[in-house]
Amino acid sequence: MTKKQKVIVEGYIVTAEKKPFRGQILLNKKTGLIEEVVELAKKKLGEADFVFEKDSLIFPGFGDVHIHAREDRTGKQNYKEDYQTVTEAALNGGCVHISAMPNTPKPLTTENDWQWHRQRVGELTSPVSILNYVGIDAQTKPLGKPGEHFYKLYFGKSVGDLSVIYAEELDKILQRYQGQNISFHVEYEPIVQACRNGETHSDRRPAESVEEGLRLLLPLIEKYKIEAKLCHWSLGKKSFELIKEYRERGAKITLEVSPLHLLFDKEMARKNPELWTKIQMNPAIQTPQDRKDLIAGLKNGFIQYLATDHAPHTREEKFSAFAKFKESKKYRNKSNVEIAEMIKKEDKELYRKTCLEDGMSGAPWLDTYGVVCVELMTKYNFTPQEILRVASENPGKFVNPHLKRQFPQQKFGKGFGKIAKGYLGNLTVLNLKSTRTISSANLKTKVGWSPLEGRSFAGGVEAVFVRGELEQRRNIFWERWHQLRLEKGSNICAGLDPSVYEMGRGEKGLPQGVDKLEWSLRYIEAVAPYVVAIKPNAGSWGNAGDRTALKKVVDKIHQLGLLAIIDSKVADLGFTNDSWFYDYKQLGFDAVTVAPFAGNIENIVQSARKRDIAVITMGLMSNPEYKTEMNFVNKQGERLWENRVKRGLEAGVDGLVVGGTYTVKDKDFLRFVEMTNESEALYLIPGIGAQGGEIKEFLKSGIKSEKCIVSSGRDVMFPKGAKSTPEQQAQAAKELRDEFRKASGF
Ligand SMILES: [Zn+2]
Repeated sequence: MTKKQKVIVEGYIVTAEKKPFRGQILLNKKTGLIEEVVELAKKKLGEADFVFEKDSLIFPGFGDVHIHAREDRTGKQNYKEDYQTVTEAALNGGCVHISAMPNTPKPLTTENDWQWHRQRVGELTSPVSILNYVGIDAQTKPLGKPGEHFYKLYFGKSVGDLSVIYAEELDKILQRYQGQNISFHVEYEPIVQACRNGETHSDRRPAESVEEGLRLLLPLIEKYKIEAKLCHWSLGKKSFELIKEYRERGAKITLEVSPLHLLFDKEMARKNPELWTKIQMNPAIQTPQDRKDLIAGLKNGFIQYLATDHAPHTREEKFSAFAKFKESKKYRNKSNVEIAEMIKKEDKELYRKTCLEDGMSGAPWLDTYGVVCVELMTKYNFTPQEILRVASENPGKFVNPHLKRQFPQQKFGKGFGKIAKGYLGNLTVLNLKSTRTISSANLKTKVGWSPLEGRSFAGGVEAVFVRGELEQRRNIFWERWHQLRLEKGSNICAGLDPSVYEMGRGEKGLPQGVDKLEWSLRYIEAVAPYVVAIKPNAGSWGNAGDRTALKKVVDKIHQLGLLAIIDSKVADLGFTNDSWFYDYKQLGFDAVTVAPFAGNIENIVQSARKRDIAVITMGLMSNPEYKTEMNFVNKQGERLWENRVKRGLEAGVDGLVVGGTYTVKDKDFLRFVEMTNESEALYLIPGIGAQGGEIKEFLKSGIKSEKCIVSSGRDVMFPKGAKSTPEQQAQAAKELRDEFRKASGF
């Protein structure tokens, strides 16, 4: 077997048996399974293909046993989410398998429904495995013998029509489902009805409704030997006692808890009623003490699953309480969200009051599964093993017996949930020290929002492997740039394109007899205190032996804590680009510049992503030839450069090159700023003069200065000619840094 079919992943591996250890995992892409796991202290398998450093932990791929994917044959709720988008959100959150609830507009309750969903799931190309629950109501019958399916029963009314209200009815139904695996929603509807005029969602769905539901349900679980899972558990100790009693008598009862119940309580919502538009959920959040008990229960093993109950509703639906204002002329043509914003400004009290009213229950959570795990470890002292148990191992045990039936065409080895020989080659890598702020820009759910938006976490998902393939890797270039910029108070990138003496550059090149590598290392050290990045130009590093030298240059850059950008402007097709990215990554570069002349920008970005290298493409160059050519207009009336910039942004480029000599007098420049300023893409700006005046003219365009990577080469390398000293180079870098700071008010 060739090397390509097997990859070695190295880093700190989390297993149930012992503390995380530095080791290697051999993944076989052909079988999709883990072939070998070794501890590096004892054995080395070989050169690793992927290495994760000490701030990262490698878990078996996470699984979420409770999500809502919304899609069914009616297609009525596909605007909220569908099977494809839900897998993207899952992967983003580090989940490699998810189990979808059956309460879609046409609930999944029959063999026929089941076939429709399995076929639909089978059509997806996503690496994420989706399993389906089967719904239960007064009319349904089991689709198979115990152990063949897992079911969902709504004891109480939640979202959708699938529900059972009374205990007598429940008794009759469960009689038919003896010994089956059933997950329960538990809220006693008559109590919910009696409380429907309560002030907040927690008052309207009080703890008593869950307690009473539990009291009625437990004897039936025992009586009919149900393999029970209680969904999104919301109550603390008192409920635990009752469950414990039944467990001790032999009843099989496991529990899920949702991140919403772990991170929010009604005291928080009392202080900040606005929260209700994000965190209304059934069952409702309860007291701070309940929340504390749930966290402790998850940590000590009383609760088995961290399950999100990912329930995507649009923002508009979440603000449905504001729809009533549409009766007034002023708000008639406004959306709920717009009305909420207007009222928030006009009448704070009315706004708060309306937020307390009944909206839509449920929130999207899949994208943030990984950050929630990080939060549990960094804020609530969960050990990696405790996270492994609730996010990987138990979810794996839940789905593994069902893989054969749900995916008759696929092989799963020993299944999900463990980093051990014969298990699936699925890994979720969490980084615990790379701050993440949740924003709609980094969410994949179709509804595009999260209850955690604006909130920062100590880390998040670093990479996800599925069946040995790297499916997701976070590009840290953007984050590192912003972090370093603030740390160093600098926007400056020092160019590194030293021409050897023989090229005849005179005062703008190296003096005779000077060793390029030695000179470069000294230069990097000299300017390091004043710059954020170093940018070697590939053109200056193409001689024999330069590759080895370049590796030393990059090592030096990283030792000094800076970013390394290779200015190569590569441009070719498929495999050739991939080879370039691979090589530059091997050398250690963080980013590469590209000039996709062939127009294959999407392909290039994808290829760079795979190799975990950031990509900076041509935005608006300032040489006159560029503008002549790039101003050709296509059929849609777009100029070529606009089309390239637009597509680059859509493809997710990390940066755009824009000439530093532009001023507000140039309309193209203003158009460029308008097109790009709100995106996350950074600007790589060559050619900006060291004079403050030029920088000011450039910044007048309104271009966001925090995104500007100001690049200067010869002015910093040779400020006093070929023989410039390191002190003079340092001084030049410092001056440029200070000029930009002053001009941008940083
Ligand atoms: Zn649910």
